[in-house]
Amino acid sequence: HFITFEGVEGAGKTSLIRKLAVELEKADFDCLVTREPGGIPIAEQIRSVILDADNTAMDGRTEALLYAAARRQHMTEKVIPALEAGKVVLCDRFVDSSLAYQGHARGLGMEAIRQINDFAIGGVMPELTILLDMAPAEGLKRINRNADREKNRLDMEKLEFHELVREGYLILQKAEPERIRLIDADREREQICQEVLNLLKEHILI
Ligand code: C5P
Ligand code: MG
Repeated sequence: HFITFEGVEGAGKTSLIRKLAVELEKADFDCLVTREPGGIPIAEQIRSVILDADNTAMDGRTEALLYAAARRQHMTEKVIPALEAGKVVLCDRFVDSSLAYQGHARGLGMEAIRQINDFAIGGVMPELTILLDMAPAEGLKRINRNADREKNRLDMEKLEFHELVREGYLILQKAEPERIRLIDADREREQICQEVLNLLKEHILI
């Protein structure tokens, strides 16, 4: 089972995935937790190029192509083998991030981003996507409280950019409500985790 997690900065994707994996392992599901861009050495290297705060000259299309390249390698090297081995793959971000960030917020257009990603992933899509929705201003506040978080080039973006990212995600969710489940992320972590855990178990057991 291929399950992805999406949302604006600070929505709580990473910590939610960690908790879910612990709970699913307790229930005897074999899980693989991974993230994008990254998850394997080649893709982590591409990630550091994309997110390097010194790379201020990065062109939008270059950025989109690098995300797609990292995604391709991550899929062939890690995700697809895990799916073939019957694991539950929990992935922090996937193609919906590219559609919302580069397609919508950066204005490259969702259709163009879809095309390069079709080439990159050849139709392998998640069965279920958890969209952790919250006001970007709240998410950014959470991030600024977390001193351990790595700084990156996207930290220069203004609030309006993140508002567009959220808008992009909501457009995608409306178009595919069966695959993309909208979760209100501005609540107690424990409550969110229980709700998503139930959703996942229900989905995996079918
Ligand atoms: O998921 P994580 O927060 O680690 O993402 C790293 C950075 O990459 C974030 O700042 C995120 O906004 C950015 N990003 C992006 N476009 C994507 C995926 C991630 O700008 N398609
Ligand atoms: Mg995260």
